Amino acid sequence: MPELPEVETVVRTLRPFVEGQSLQDIKVYWPRIVQGPLKRTWQGQTVKVLKRRAKFIVMQLDSGFLTTHLRMTGQLIPVDALPRRQMPHVHAAFVLTNGAILFQDVRKFGRIRFLGPADYALWESKLGCEPLEESFTADWLYESTRKRRRQLKPALLDQGFIAGLGNIYVDEALFVARLQPTRLAADLSRQDCSRLHGAIQKVLRKATAANGSSFMDFKFLGGQEGGYTDEMLVFRRTGLPCPRCKRPIERIVLGGRSTHFCRSCQI
Ligand SMILES: [Zn+2]
Repeated sequence: MPELPEVETVVRTLRPFVEGQSLQDIKVYWPRIVQGPLKRTWQGQTVKVLKRRAKFIVMQLDSGFLTTHLRMTGQLIPVDALPRRQMPHVHAAFVLTNGAILFQDVRKFGRIRFLGPADYALWESKLGCEPLEESFTADWLYESTRKRRRQLKPALLDQGFIAGLGNIYVDEALFVARLQPTRLAADLSRQDCSRLHGAIQKVLRKATAANGSSFMDFKFLGGQEGGYTDEMLVFRRTGLPCPRCKRPIERIVLGGRSTHFCRSCQI
């Protein structure tokens, strides 16, 4: 599933196609891709901003917001005009003044939703801190982990705590921070939190600059792959030597998610 760097890549590459255009129509070829009612109030509105919030792509209109979640295999593909014949796995299309954005999704887990301003504010308030924004600090991380008696891996995957992290970048950040994924969040020292804060930002910034990674079939602009895949330190490297101490990377399952780490340099 695309995480913060991948979603940020999609938003960055689509922004020039979308911002300032008016939304003429939303074609829905597979109704279940739409969550909740898609009232036609969006019609003719201008896309003011295209942005990311957590793992969602958010189209901010004159009044209201269209949120898209790509889930497993979703892709947003800009085209000059709607194709005459329906393309395989295209379940929806945003028709704009200058063309269209096709929502292609082989596994059909992706979703689109329209939220009015009040509903959007409520929805947004339930999402956690953005790890690349100023409000995310080492002190904030220390204070907000005090009551979290959960293991670090599931704690960091909780979108209501820190938004945008997923399985890949949590494993990578915990390795960089030298923290074992089974540690209790509430037991971290101030120094641990400072390392973890730095590691989360470093990993996310590097991955975003490389257009994300292409695990989980992630592609953008209809076929490009992220460049971070080769820079992974522990994720899906079970049995391979740890880049720091050369002992083999281990894989365990934590909270139902496969978790990769080095037992000797993560404590
Ligand atoms: Zn190691």
